[in-house]
Amino acid sequence: MTRFESTLTCPLCGHRRSETMPSDACQYFYDCQGCGAVLKPKPGDCCVFCSYGSVPCPPVQEGGYCETGRQAPVRG
Ligand SMILES: [Zn+2]
Repeated sequence: MTRFESTLTCPLCGHRRSETMPSDACQYFYDCQGCGAVLKPKPGDCCVFCSYGSVPCPPVQEGGYCETGRQAPVRG
């Protein structure tokens, strides 16, 4: 069951916001609504949802990693 809702937490200010993820693409940039910072994925992650979201992006949920990512994210 793929989930499309993810709560992004800004690593800079801690602001949290629930976002709907696109099902067929990854979001590389995210503008924090709290402090205005432009978030980018951590090294090894394919998108901001994998790095800062409560739920990783749909392609990762389904197959381990998405086509824009160079490697499967190592979690946990
Ligand atoms: Zn922020």
